Amino acid sequence: MRVTIVGGGLAGSEAAWQVASRGVPVTLHEMRPVRPTAVHRTDALAELVCSNSFRGDKLDNAVGLLKEEMRRLGSLVMRAAEASRVPAGAALAVDRDRFSEIVTRAIAEHPLVTVVRDEITKIPSSSDDSPVIVATGPLTSDALSSDIARIVGSEHLYFYDAISPIVLAETIDRGKVFRASRWGRSLRGEVRLQPDQPACGMDDGEGDYLNCPLTREEYDRFYDALVSAESATVHDFDKERFFEGCLPIEVMAHRGRDTLRFGPMKPVGLVDPRTGREPYAAVQLRQDNLAGDHFSLVGFQTQIKWGEQARVLKLIPGLEQAEFVRFGMVHRNTYVNGPTVLAETWQVRSRPSLFFAGQMSGVEGYVESAASGLLAGLNAAAIAKGGRASSPPRTTAIGALAYYVSHANPAHYEPSNITFGILQPLSGAPRGKQQRNLALSERALADLDEWMGVRGLMETVGADPRVGP
Ligand SMILES: Cc1cc2nc3c(=O)[nH]c(=O)nc-3n(C[C@H](O)[C@H](O)[C@H](O)COP(=O)(O)OP(=O)(O)OC[C@H]3O[C@@H](n4cnc5c(N)ncnc54)[C@H](O)[C@@H]3O)c2cc1C
Repeated sequence: MRVTIVGGGLAGSEAAWQVASRGVPVTLHEMRPVRPTAVHRTDALAELVCSNSFRGDKLDNAVGLLKEEMRRLGSLVMRAAEASRVPAGAALAVDRDRFSEIVTRAIAEHPLVTVVRDEITKIPSSSDDSPVIVATGPLTSDALSSDIARIVGSEHLYFYDAISPIVLAETIDRGKVFRASRWGRSLRGEVRLQPDQPACGMDDGEGDYLNCPLTREEYDRFYDALVSAESATVHDFDKERFFEGCLPIEVMAHRGRDTLRFGPMKPVGLVDPRTGREPYAAVQLRQDNLAGDHFSLVGFQTQIKWGEQARVLKLIPGLEQAEFVRFGMVHRNTYVNGPTVLAETWQVRSRPSLFFAGQMSGVEGYVESAASGLLAGLNAAAIAKGGRASSPPRTTAIGALAYYVSHANPAHYEPSNITFGILQPLSGAPRGKQQRNLALSERALADLDEWMGVRGLMETVGADPRVGP
């Protein structure tokens, strides 16, 4: 009985801790420093590659709830974060070196964990009593990426994240946009994985998209602002050529004034009901989460600096007051199409003794990556001991994330942060946003405690003297 984990990042380290905490031996393979990545700077486990923030830490915030659930499940990442916390208002930010040092020490000193510094180029063989967790992150090495493609099918493995900006639905000016699909076609003919829930990107309104129409003058104003906007500095790997299919809008714009009107801003097949005509150009907004409170700008991947993005994109009619939930970016990001490949236990559907966890499993963010590693670790330990894998209910943040990764619409799949929008709705919820979120959190924590009780997890998550300031 042994669990093998590939990748000692946030997900892999958390998974190793969970497995070992349940009395199952672990071998953790981490390729740094033998083989570096384009972004990591140290050889520490759980290195934070960019910001030092784990985001909000209050229960009226979805990532705050996810963190509280992880604390209850005995998360090493959460304990190390508390022990290296720096002042950051309502957010949980850490001293990054101290954080990684605590995780590295806790893992290295655990008697059931063996850390091996090598690059794994093929997915190790797995069986029920010796499961494997692959948690090699967005910068999974090339050789291993090829082997993953062999197992999941190359069409279900992505190498670039062309992320379009996302806006909060309630900040879109509905008086200026119109709801319609191109040529009146609806996406609702597509396969739905859950008959009771519209899948991601779908809409139960009259059309699948919200369309922002632009007159010639508005288009020219937008175009001029776009071509003169400042681009963000890119990492080395971003200097590689872009795929034609995911060109940043500013790159397209530099090819000619009308290129965008024949690309992501093409108006053909879209009739504005107020004029009865096609607009000069149009930007389409697609529902981005199950709850429908986020809309992404279709085909608007961009590398423009975030401040500049807000300025330029607010020139689009209907988005003048838009609040951005996420800005656009293009970067190397290896991840599988979760809904096609994974079960909600983070097991590979076609091979249940193999798990994918972390960013490469199709979640987004430090906390979400660690949370997926936590559940994959719990489940790998369970099956190694002859038990069964399971996931907390969708009323919890960790269960909702697992559900999203395995059930969102595969046709438009993009890694997601945790939001309250993907939790199962609460009937009779209070009206105000903050009160509603707090009620969702209260229900989530009660349901998590119940699930932990049923799974016999309450006894195994007590404080561990190896992790501390
Ligand atoms: C440039 C960039 C910036 C980001 N910034 C943020 C941010 O500010 N905030 C945020 O919340 N999220 C950010 N993310 C997203 C994401 O949350 C982090 O990448 C996070 O570290 C993912 O955790 P992980 O465990 O999945 O991967 P990682 O933390 O990257 O861990 C994967 C580990 O696997 C190792 N590995 C890879 N291939 C092999 C192999 N073949 N054999 C053995 N080991 C291997 C790597 O060396 C690495 O240590 C960023 C991502 C990128 C690419």
